[in-house]
Amino acid sequence: ASGYTLLRDPRHNKGLAFTENERDAHYLRGLLPPALMNQELQEKRLMHNLRQYKVPLQRYVAMMDLQERNERLFYKLLIDNVEELLPVVYTPTVGEACQKYGSIFRRPQGLYISLKEKGKILEVLKNWPERNIQVIVVTDGERILGLGDLGCQGMGIPVGKLSLYTALGGLRPSACLPITIDVGTNNEQLLNDEFYIGLRQKRATGQEYAELLQEFMTAVKQNYGEKVLIQFEDFANHNAFELLSKYSSSHLVFNDDIQGTASVVLAGILSALKLVGGTLADQTFLFLGAGEAGTGIAELIALEMSKQTKAPIEEARKKIWLVDSKGLIVSSRKESLQHFKKPWAHEHAPIKSLLDAVKAIKPTMLMGTSGVGKTFTKEVVEAMASFNEKPVIFALSNPTSQSECTAEEAYTWSKGQAIFASGSPFDPVEYNGKVFVPGQGNNAYIFPGLGLGLIISGAIRVRDEMLLAACKYLDDYMLDSKCVRDIYVLFYLHMCQ
Ligand code: NAP
Ligand code: MN
Repeated sequence: ASGYTLLRDPRHNKGLAFTENERDAHYLRGLLPPALMNQELQEKRLMHNLRQYKVPLQRYVAMMDLQERNERLFYKLLIDNVEELLPVVYTPTVGEACQKYGSIFRRPQGLYISLKEKGKILEVLKNWPERNIQVIVVTDGERILGLGDLGCQGMGIPVGKLSLYTALGGLRPSACLPITIDVGTNNEQLLNDEFYIGLRQKRATGQEYAELLQEFMTAVKQNYGEKVLIQFEDFANHNAFELLSKYSSSHLVFNDDIQGTASVVLAGILSALKLVGGTLADQTFLFLGAGEAGTGIAELIALEMSKQTKAPIEEARKKIWLVDSKGLIVSSRKESLQHFKKPWAHEHAPIKSLLDAVKAIKPTMLMGTSGVGKTFTKEVVEAMASFNEKPVIFALSNPTSQSECTAEEAYTWSKGQAIFASGSPFDPVEYNGKVFVPGQGNNAYIFPGLGLGLIISGAIRVRDEMLLAACKYLDDYMLDSKCVRDIYVLFYLHMCQ
């Protein structure tokens, strides 16, 4: 592209950073004002503008505009200001963006595959301008963060995740493909919203759903080969577990909510152990939420514990308890349990509430993975602090509105005893003259590095050992790295070896 079209091509446009020579060579004379502004100055100007916006969603829209206008500058901003901009293009703001996607929608990003494209998915893939794809992040929008079914508007998630693949994993933007599969939505509000951008029908399920996904998975492999990485993101759990087990033996796939979360949270647990003392097997875990995140983390903890103690994994699982919407998961419920909950149904009298479960199980580590906010109440946190010197409390549900408790609540209710991390970021908290810096337990610490490792190594399948390895490196680097980016850089270097 040259001249006018070049200025409208986000991949090559540099705006006022085009030099005098480039302006001559690419027929840009007269199309730009005379001033030259190098990338550093452009960055300074944009950051200044962004900080003027007080409403987070305005920052999000400004970043998306930039991505559509000048891709290099977008990534430069994201890389240089990762701690400031991650909450904008990722959790929590991306959640709000998905909720309002219909009204902020400008130019489409990514690829939409709906039931209308059934039988033609391969053609749809060929409509995408890039041939050489290395990683796909795909959602069907049924469980976006802790916000529920957002249908087609879930597209914000694959777009945001892939921008981190580039900013943090160093993948070419053109090698990344965000996809939303639209099989309808059960969200009444969206179905009645005149600005809704998706199919206006109830979700397809069963065979109809399975066939569309089968066609998609086959078309992807046919079009991009065996080494393309497919990251499943924010599917509802019944589909998530099934798709993962169905395709993990034929495709390079991983589910970020189950596996990515598991390895980042295990890394956080190993780091916390250095503060609490004792071994992994000395701990007792209680989870609120027994879905993708909860059972995924629980299983990886059990795997690591059984490796350390050389005891069977069934033994390790007994140290881990989960609560779902019906209460503590116990063996008397076994018949009616979904298969992914069955390994966690231990012998115990039924218990309804989290508080009673905490009092009965006396966990050393409490994990929030239910997607329901404000569930770690004052009583729950106080109970944790009553029988633990340093209770480990992770409020992992996203976005911030769904967090089980805030950092401030965790520190004040536990009188400064808690070791706290959360899925969405919280600012440091001052309590009793001391500053507490909460950790962030988010799969963003893992997936760009894991993905890069998989792609560079030419892997064709994802194995549990890779997740454990990713988790160990993250744990090692967490302690001596001051900033998020350091962790990534070191982590990749290791994954690449
Ligand atoms: P999911 O598969 O739908 O699981 C949700 C679980 O929570 C289910 O077991 C559900 O119980 C339970 N639950 C729902 N409401 C409850 C209540 N009021 N009391 C007790 N349990 C309740 O969802 P997921 O994929 O695990 O995600 C859950 C949350 O984790 C979301 O907010 C998500 O954003 C967050 N997450 C965070 C990260 C991170 O990196 N920090 C990564 C992934 C997910 P039933 O089984 O009885 O329905
Ligand atoms: Mn997710």
